[in-house]
Amino acid sequence: MIKAIIFDLDNTLIDFMKMKRLSCEAAIEAMIREGLKISKKEGMKILFELYSKYGLEYQRIFQVFLKKILGKIDYKIMASGIVAYRRVKEGLLYPYPNVVPTLNKLKKKYKLVILSDAPRIQVWIRLVAMKIQDKFDYVITFDDTKTIKPDIKPFLYLLKKLKLKPEECLMVGDSLKRDIAPAKKLGFKTVFAKYGGNKEKAKIKPDYILKYNINELFTILSIL
Ligand SMILES: [Mg+2]
Repeated sequence: MIKAIIFDLDNTLIDFMKMKRLSCEAAIEAMIREGLKISKKEGMKILFELYSKYGLEYQRIFQVFLKKILGKIDYKIMASGIVAYRRVKEGLLYPYPNVVPTLNKLKKKYKLVILSDAPRIQVWIRLVAMKIQDKFDYVITFDDTKTIKPDIKPFLYLLKKLKLKPEECLMVGDSLKRDIAPAKKLGFKTVFAKYGGNKEKAKIKPDYILKYNINELFTILSIL
C-alpha cells in the first residue's frame, strides 16, 4: 500500500520551460531597448536554437547569442539582457497546471515529500514562490545527504526519515536516469512525469507514466 508520494521539483512540479520562455522574452526585449537590431520573434528563435545546441542550462548563452547576431559581444547589451533575464526568472516560478489542487487532494491521504538535488535554500525559494511550501511533510535537498540523484543515498535517507519501506513509496519525477532508475532499483513504485519534456535516452521502464498532467496520478493511485 502506498503511504508516501515523493516528488522531484524541477520539471515535475515547476514549469521550468514557462519560466525559461518568459525570462528569455524579457532578456530579448531589454537587449532590443538597449540597441540590438532584431525582432523579438527572430531573437527568440535564434536563442532557442542555441539552447537546443548548448543545453538549457548553458550559462554563456547570451555571449554566443550576441556573437551570432553581431559577430561580437556588446557588453552593455549583454548585461541588459542578463539583468532582465534574472529578474524575471526569480519572480516567475510557476507550477504546472493542476499541481496545487492535486497536492491538496493527495495531502489528505498520503505523506508528501520533495526530493530535490538543488540546495536547500533554492528549493525553499522555489516552493515559496509557487506558494506550495506548506504542502509537504518532508523537504529533502542536496544539503541533507550532500549527494545527488541517481545516487541511492538521498532515497535511503528519505526512507529512514519517513520510516517506510520502498514499496510503500511512489516516486514521481521527470528524469528516467536520476529519478526513476534509482527509485526502481530500491523497490519504489515509479511514475515518470513525461510532461516535463525530458528527452534523455534511457532504457529504464517506469511503472507508470503521467503523459500530460499531474492529475493523472489519481488514476494510477486508484489501481495501485
Ligand atoms: Mg527534474
